[in-house]
Amino acid sequence: MTVLYLVIPCYNESEVLPETVSRLDQILEGMVKSGKIDKKSRALYVNDGSKDNTWELIKGYSETSPWTCGLCLSRNRGHQNALLAGLMEAKKHADAVISLDADLQDDVNAIEKMVDAFHAGNDIVYGVRSSREKDTWFKKTTAEGFYHVMKFLGVEIVFNHADYRLMSRRALDGLEEFDEVNLFLRGIIPQIGYPSATVTYERGERFAGESKYPLKKMLAFAFEGITSFTIKPIRFVTTLGAFAFMVSLVMLVYCLVSYITGNVVSGWASLGVSIWALGGLQILSLGVIGEYIGKIYLETKHRPRYIVKETAGISDESV
Ligand code: UDP
Ligand code: MG
Repeated sequence: MTVLYLVIPCYNESEVLPETVSRLDQILEGMVKSGKIDKKSRALYVNDGSKDNTWELIKGYSETSPWTCGLCLSRNRGHQNALLAGLMEAKKHADAVISLDADLQDDVNAIEKMVDAFHAGNDIVYGVRSSREKDTWFKKTTAEGFYHVMKFLGVEIVFNHADYRLMSRRALDGLEEFDEVNLFLRGIIPQIGYPSATVTYERGERFAGESKYPLKKMLAFAFEGITSFTIKPIRFVTTLGAFAFMVSLVMLVYCLVSYITGNVVSGWASLGVSIWALGGLQILSLGVIGEYIGKIYLETKHRPRYIVKETAGISDESV
């Protein structure tokens, strides 16, 4: 029977954990009772270097709840890395793994639907938000805009899908082969291949506590996604450069003609404007290229993406 692991990254989530643990325990217990999953199934909470008592809570639950186990990273490594750490640990024990947020924004009732889709032969099941009514106007517009930009730049990405998804063990084996440090999981996963399906769910509001993804982190994440999966911005810079060069040729001809016909070129304003415009474009272009070089620099170091400090309630038994 299917051993299912749920992977939940947690960063300062002590406010939501008690409720999350009890709800997920219920779900797992229910599915075991109805014979859908094996009783060795677990919820694996990954503590991503929280500053509050999240890890103490997880450790406590791993003793009192038969469904709970935990992984503690050596420090805060960010959501994507924490998720990866959990997935790689869960892969050792499970046939299928579902990742979800600690704040119960991902509707837990979709878990069963995902498992059904897995039993129907899918290796990857994407949780897709049916609506964003609960999100603020700003979050909705920026998030949807981001998906459109990604599509426009030619990145394969599932619309309105975040990191709520099921993956089979062989899909996770595939994921392990991608050893990039600039992690943007929702861009990598469609590249793994294998049969996949989608399950729609309604995204709720954060149950308690506040978002651990402020605007700054969101922008950095979007940038990460774009620069990790497409070199179109660099191409765009090249095209822009070629275009500017053509314009300068036309200008040259114009200047020569003006000189020959005796029209003295006057007006430094237009000159000033073009210097600023070109200077700006050049700096911007250098920035874009620098961004990619920075990525290459980080990738070549092959630094570990996470370090596990401690575990709680994880059996040595692997499949
Ligand atoms: N998270 C994490 N490390 C971080 C930031 C966030 O593990 O550095 C976790 C967080 O605990 C939550 C999930 O990532 O389980 C999503 O974060 P959040 O709900 O704050 O993001 P939002 O839903 O507001 O986009
Ligand atoms: Mg959230």
